[in-house]
Amino acid sequence: MKPILLLLGFLFFGSCATTIDLYKEKQLSATMESDNAVRVVWLGTAGLYVSDGETSFFIDPFVSRHGLLKVLCGFPLPPMLPEIQAWVRQVDGAKAQAVIVSHSHYDHALDAPFFAQTTGAILVGSASTAHIGLGAGLPEKQLQIVQPGSRFTCGRFEITFIQSRHSKAALGRIPWPGEITSPVIPPASASDYRLGEAFAIRVTHPKGSFVHLGSAGFVEKMFADMQADALFVSIAGREDTRELLHHSAATLQAKLVIPIHFDNFFKPLDQDMAILWGADLPEFFQTAGSFAPDINVYTLPIGRSTVLFP
Ligand SMILES: [Zn+2]
Repeated sequence: MKPILLLLGFLFFGSCATTIDLYKEKQLSATMESDNAVRVVWLGTAGLYVSDGETSFFIDPFVSRHGLLKVLCGFPLPPMLPEIQAWVRQVDGAKAQAVIVSHSHYDHALDAPFFAQTTGAILVGSASTAHIGLGAGLPEKQLQIVQPGSRFTCGRFEITFIQSRHSKAALGRIPWPGEITSPVIPPASASDYRLGEAFAIRVTHPKGSFVHLGSAGFVEKMFADMQADALFVSIAGREDTRELLHHSAATLQAKLVIPIHFDNFFKPLDQDMAILWGADLPEFFQTAGSFAPDINVYTLPIGRSTVLFP
């Protein structure tokens, strides 16, 4: 019963019309296009597709959205291969070079090996993530294990893995902690996808830099001496918005903040988006506005390519 109780704290959700209106009102619009602009597509949850027109990669792509009861009851969660293939086509990502995973929970890592399989990309993540890749049948040459401090080059993108911490998103506790020590053979249940290492991912490119924070946790001074133009920050399960912004956006001097991982991921992606209960998007906007008025907070539309750096 314990995993179910843990999940209940994390996963109560609902949808409020005014919050959805806020999400739509605040969407970043594509401006000043150029052929080699850095563009992003949000896939929902913490999933991103990033491209500069030459090179592209995914971070935490997850589209196999099973219902809440199935997850809570520990049923096996098969990857939804037709959806994965459709999303690769939709973002024009067949030539993606890497699939990068911030941590090994199922809503970040379950689909990652299958995005790698569909595109031929390398799966990059912790040792736990590599076990998810092996279990899915990826050959070892398509796996790269990284540690805090590791760097990975992808075309003109330079990617650095920074030690982070998962938020205490489940009744004040970190959900499904621990390492994965043997291959996870799908379909597996959510609790088989243990956390592993939690990374913040910093991406630099001649056009600009950004940080992806896959969970709303942080380590003090994790971004000391680092700068980023933009921050993608997961906000579900955050403990304190000001503290989170202080240790991420403020330290990084990021002028653009894009909240992610506030959508209800128990609902199929092809349905209208709903907000996870407790993710409290309005509070995030309000607190960010009073915390640092020079920070611009925008949302991204799911599935639509948007210019990040023209
Ligand atoms: Zn997680």
